Amino acid sequence: MVKDTVPPPALRDRLGRRLSDLRVSVTDRCNFRCGYCMPRETYGPGFRFAPRDQVLTFEEITRVVAVSTELGVRKVRLTGGEPLLRRDLERLVGQVAALPLVEDLALTTNGSLLAAKAVALRAAGLGRVTVSLDSLDPLVFQRMNDVDVPLETVLAGIAAARAAGFHPIKLNTVVRRGLNDEGILDLAAFARREGHVLRLIEYMDVGHTNGWRLDEVVPAEEMIERIDSAHPLEPLPPRATGEVARRFRYRDGSGEVGVIASVSRPFCGACTRARLSAEGRLYTCLFASRGTDLREPLRRGVGDEELAQRIAGVWREREDRYSELRTAGTAPDPARVEMSTVGG
Ligand code: SAM
Ligand code: SF4
Ligand code: SF4
Repeated sequence: MVKDTVPPPALRDRLGRRLSDLRVSVTDRCNFRCGYCMPRETYGPGFRFAPRDQVLTFEEITRVVAVSTELGVRKVRLTGGEPLLRRDLERLVGQVAALPLVEDLALTTNGSLLAAKAVALRAAGLGRVTVSLDSLDPLVFQRMNDVDVPLETVLAGIAAARAAGFHPIKLNTVVRRGLNDEGILDLAAFARREGHVLRLIEYMDVGHTNGWRLDEVVPAEEMIERIDSAHPLEPLPPRATGEVARRFRYRDGSGEVGVIASVSRPFCGACTRARLSAEGRLYTCLFASRGTDLREPLRRGVGDEELAQRIAGVWREREDRYSELRTAGTAPDPARVEMSTVGG
């Protein structure tokens, strides 16, 4: 007799959302000091980053990812800080890519170290690369990263990733009024010409160190209007639930552009992401004030079942919807985590 196997009920949070994405911050360190993320006034020479022995090993990260896939995670993104500062990152990529339930493995990087790493990352099984690129104007670019890394270094990284077989490459641009918003048409033209996909991101009030002001946010609607007036666009339907970008395609067929309207049009209802910090804390919202420690049980040697129960328990209790509350004017102002801790 064939026995019916009943699949376990899908894990859902208090608002009915599934867990399908995990963002893994592999380091809290970065070689850039973007003012919207790690401003140098806070992240100066005296800043204390996590001591190395407090940061999860590749084996520990792989274990958390493996257990999370049993709970529904299919998409994994490696981020940071700057993930390519972590030595031999391709070894972690290989381990995560080998997990049978991981369908999509991506990396977000500032691109400064990508030229040397692209081939090894591809060979190890990395599926997709997103490169943050805030401007094509060399002076604006350097002002935004605030460490004098020249634009050509990142452009060389993007070219190397393309040559290694990553295609299309996503380009993330955080748009700040008065700083780099004049450059979005140049970025759009560059992306169209090179076959990359531009994602314009509204500047978010993550953390407390960036001195965020609403008047610096360029609403996604305005960004789209600006591009549409130069290169006519039409909307694309969403590909999957949980897709945070609103996508448009150029009417002449030369590619697509997306906007992430986390401030002007929040998408908490479709938020299926959990975030693992470099020190092994699990966060269920970009704006969370505290995470749940997974490093302690990992290092105590608990079994997969117990680890899964801890992660599932956190997800079941989740009721985060900070961006919706902020837009409604009813958000609390907790001690929020910094972007470089949870990796964007
Ligand atoms: N260092 C890598 C990078 O810059 O691509 C990965 C980590 S970074 C925290 C991930 C993404 O978050 C980047 O694309 C960055 O532009 C974005 N980001 C950081 N701070 C932000 C903010 N205040 N608002 C919107 N996006 C932000
Ligand atoms: Fe570093 Fe990325 Fe944050 Fe810029 S956005 S400071 S590159 S972690
Ligand atoms: Fe998800 Fe929190 Fe962002 Fe809402 S505010 S989309 S719950 S991370």
